[in-house]
Amino acid sequence: MSQKFKKIIAISICALLSGCDVDNSDKRYSTDQVLIDEHGVTLTPSKAMYVDFDSISKAYIDTMTCMGMTAIGPTVEFRSFSFAGLGATWAFYAPVESTIWINIDEDDLVLSRSARTDLEALEHEFIHHILHKNDAAEEAREHSSPFFGKCGPGINTYN
Ligand SMILES: [Zn+2]
Repeated sequence: MSQKFKKIIAISICALLSGCDVDNSDKRYSTDQVLIDEHGVTLTPSKAMYVDFDSISKAYIDTMTCMGMTAIGPTVEFRSFSFAGLGATWAFYAPVESTIWINIDEDDLVLSRSARTDLEALEHEFIHHILHKNDAAEEAREHSSPFFGKCGPGINTYN
């Protein structure tokens, strides 16, 4: 077995274990185009993303699978919240627009973002969206659905 192949396997195993830090976890991604996947997840032009579109798309599928529910995907946009005085907020879901905003915290005020926090924020907001689309808006608003705990509690700030 070649060294390169062994390394690929090692990285794959690593990625299966939660909490595993892959070397390039502070890599940033951006897109100047609108990207749409087969579930309707739409990424508007965004910058300063710690996750790429494939990871966003996969997280949406994982969240639907975890919940045992489906919904046409939301729009996702990474943007600064500082304009609205919401600098300390990780993410926000706007049900009417079916849009998730992820705070890029461009002034580096409070958030210590990484690939992990971007995914945790996305999973949590995906649950808001999927519940909303399945007529469980009340549960989504009040965080009373058990799916939040099971499939996306939000940012885990223990480390
Ligand atoms: Zn929430």
